[in-house]
Amino acid sequence: MLGLVEKGIAAPIASSTFAAEWSWPFDSATKVSPSREDEASKDQETKEQARKPPGLTMACDGLDVLVDRKHSLSPDYVPSDLVPLQEDHGVPTLGSEVLRLRHGAAENLGDLIEDAAADAEELVVASAYRSYEQQQLSHQRLISVFGADAFGMSAQPGHSQHQLGTAVDFTNAAAGYLLWRSFANTSAYSWLEHHAWEYGFVLSYPRGKKEQTGYQWEPWHYRYVGVKEATRLQQSDLSLQEFLEREGNMTHC
Ligand SMILES: [Zn+2]
Repeated sequence: MLGLVEKGIAAPIASSTFAAEWSWPFDSATKVSPSREDEASKDQETKEQARKPPGLTMACDGLDVLVDRKHSLSPDYVPSDLVPLQEDHGVPTLGSEVLRLRHGAAENLGDLIEDAAADAEELVVASAYRSYEQQQLSHQRLISVFGADAFGMSAQPGHSQHQLGTAVDFTNAAAGYLLWRSFANTSAYSWLEHHAWEYGFVLSYPRGKKEQTGYQWEPWHYRYVGVKEATRLQQSDLSLQEFLEREGNMTHC
């Protein structure tokens, strides 16, 4: 499968302008069997989840759940209303994998991309929902290639907003269909800066906010929080991180 990352690997990874949040092409043929140690820790996690009071997983369905380096999602959290972006909402996606988001996010994303296209702006979705296992595999592979640097490039399993099913990565032809900072130089990015909030999407990791968010600037990564909250954010000086720390759901789901 020719995927984003094979192309991405050829990109100038040493350049300071390159920052990557990598989504490794994922298929069952490449799935690695967990070691006995991994299975033991998985057993442990399962027991811990069994002890959690019922309803916690449901709480993760809120659009205001804080997921960052300190706040994580349970390995078995899977949103219940994921829908295929291309099939259901005509959203252009990269690669052969079926990309999905939660229903409300997908619907608004479809409108966003259609309206951007009407303004002659191309937006293609490079990644959307990622399961805990997909994030784990992608993260492990990054570590095998980049060592400790991988921790600044991708979230550890359970700590990715992509597991929420409301986060999306954009790219386009002008950015070479890659996830890198050059996307910020495209007119489509400017369009998003002005209009994403109207569809409920917010830039998760703004420029110069690494201390706060734990991640470098990712001009391609947006999270859906609903039109009402995105409008409130747009009208305030708060970043998404600050907003969720103040008002979001900080339960460890
Ligand atoms: Zn992302």
